[in-house]
Amino acid sequence: MAEFQLIERYFSGLSGTRQDVALGVGDDCALLEAPPGMRLAMTMDTLIAGRHFLPDVAPRALGHKVLAVNLSDLAAMGARPAWALLSISLPAIDHEWLSAFSAGFSALAAEHDVALVGGDTCQGHMSITLQLTGFVEPGRALRRSTARPGDKIYVTGTLGDAALALKRLLADEDPGDLRQRLEQPCPRIAEGRALSGAGATSCIDLSDGLVADLGHICQQSGCAARILLERIPMSAQVREYVSVTGDFALAVAGGDDYELCFTLPAGEAPPDGVEAACIGEMLPGQGVELLDARSRALPLPRGWEHFA
Ligand code: ADP
Ligand code: MG
Repeated sequence: MAEFQLIERYFSGLSGTRQDVALGVGDDCALLEAPPGMRLAMTMDTLIAGRHFLPDVAPRALGHKVLAVNLSDLAAMGARPAWALLSISLPAIDHEWLSAFSAGFSALAAEHDVALVGGDTCQGHMSITLQLTGFVEPGRALRRSTARPGDKIYVTGTLGDAALALKRLLADEDPGDLRQRLEQPCPRIAEGRALSGAGATSCIDLSDGLVADLGHICQQSGCAARILLERIPMSAQVREYVSVTGDFALAVAGGDDYELCFTLPAGEAPPDGVEAACIGEMLPGQGVELLDARSRALPLPRGWEHFA
């Protein structure tokens, strides 16, 4: 099968029904109509076999995940998703793999009204890159650089589930329902939109672990963060794992959570539709400090870093 037929069969039907796509897959470029007055929010993420996913992961989950991680970046900016470009490199044409990948991608794309408008396909080591564009009103984008001392720090969902699932998979154990959290994260688009309308002072999505990602807010905002271990929201499984092993690093530094970490001025509650736990506060100074139940500073585990 030629590259052209492969694209036609698996990737040309994912353009959805958006009115702003004048021309999708098939020509040299897509032609798109940006809404007047909106900023474009653009992001890109690559997933490499053996590095970002286990080589035997279900292709349907991978199709979901490559879109989910990019959606999560738009969520963190308070943007509304719109258009995607997919670059895919595959060792060989595998129809079962491609159709499952395409189905996983298209289910999540439909949920968020994302149109796949183009891309590139080539033969090589398995690697998948998605570029995603969304829209945000000028002045409403949530930044990493705008937290202030005194702000309260919140996170959505529960932390450490994906890291515990990965740990179990690597040990040849069944991660049970935590597998979903690792392989098919649920990007917090609605929460990001609500937060950008409600005056959150900063926001980041958690891909490399809470300590590392909150560290980016601290560094870019020029302040410090103090968080309390007992306030970190954990699922029953992670809570139990931490209490049995004492290994809290999983919850505060495990990657792949794709929850949002954001700040609000003291005295303000998260807006309707945003379920989030207050885990601490921003302070003058620099760096992240993690305290135990008796207010003693705990050693900080590191997050995920390429080239580290
Ligand atoms: P060109 O060589 O001119 O870049 P290609 O043969 O690479 O064109 O692609 C043909 C069309 O198919 C283009 O519209 C391109 O955007 C689209 N396309 C290629 N690969 C993908 C893919 N993996 N997903 C979506 N669209 C793709
Ligand atoms: Mg090309």
